[in-house]
Amino acid sequence: MNRVMQIEFPGFFDLQVNGFAGVDLNSDLATPEAAHRAIERMRGTGVTRFLATLVTSSFERFAKCAKTLTRTGHPAIAGFHMEGPYISPEDGPRGAHPREHVIPASTDDFSRRQDAAGGRIRLVTLAPEAGGAIELIEHLVGLGIRVAIGHTAASPEQIRDAVKAGATLSTHLGNGCANQLPRHPNFIWEQLAADDLFASLIVDGHHLPPATVKAMVRAKTPQRTLLVTDAVAAAGGPPGVYQLNGQEVVATAEGRVFRPGAPWLAGSALTLERAVGNAARFTGLPLEQILPMASSRPAKFLGLQTSGRVTADWDAADCRLSNVKVFDV
Ligand SMILES: [Zn+2]
Repeated sequence: MNRVMQIEFPGFFDLQVNGFAGVDLNSDLATPEAAHRAIERMRGTGVTRFLATLVTSSFERFAKCAKTLTRTGHPAIAGFHMEGPYISPEDGPRGAHPREHVIPASTDDFSRRQDAAGGRIRLVTLAPEAGGAIELIEHLVGLGIRVAIGHTAASPEQIRDAVKAGATLSTHLGNGCANQLPRHPNFIWEQLAADDLFASLIVDGHHLPPATVKAMVRAKTPQRTLLVTDAVAAAGGPPGVYQLNGQEVVATAEGRVFRPGAPWLAGSALTLERAVGNAARFTGLPLEQILPMASSRPAKFLGLQTSGRVTADWDAADCRLSNVKVFDV
């Protein structure tokens, strides 16, 4: 019996893409043409829509990157995910975000960035404990913008306040936090237990151990789990040195991405079709329950639709998607 079967599903929708195929979307040197090329390459992994993710940086840099991406005019860009700058300044929770550009949350700063982004910021990841964060969450929710909790050292109570104010997602849950936490209570349990929060997970085998992925998906349920890549320029390319937000990152042959000299992961080299395979392998769930985590569900989370269809070969024994082809985009 042939264990590989051809399957068809809606185009993937990735809420978190910092770069792809050698192109850093956070670089002030990026061009619309380079971004366009990167997006076309990403399409080869089944991604037909995504949020271009702009991480913590100065207003000037943010504005320049947002304008470049807007000029790209590629229909796959469904908007922006603004990750930072209203995050924890602490080493660990801050991850690879530059400390000098971490600032308190304010509606003024956000409005300035939203103007620079042409009104296309659809998702904001922030730390609930940042000054002004709760007020900003209420403001953003009023505007129809989704708010995610991430890069945080919040107390369980601050998590509850953020949820009450309208936050609906945990960004890359289990990452962007301190290496050591009190066993309980802590903000991971609090977010796992919050039924109003979806969780995005980076399932590359480096960001979260398999058992953690399995336990998190069971806690959140497949219906509230979203697969993201958090891809940087190294994704879709060979191992080597790449740029992220103006700084060097190294991608190993195993797909681990880090800043030289720093212990934290700096995004991933993951592609979404591999994330789907990994998630199926780690959780033991059938593919029909995994695929929506990377397509219809993130789209619906934003109040959007997926675009196009994908065919691929599914090897159920190896949990691997291959021969990915996109059509009807
Ligand atoms: Zn992050």
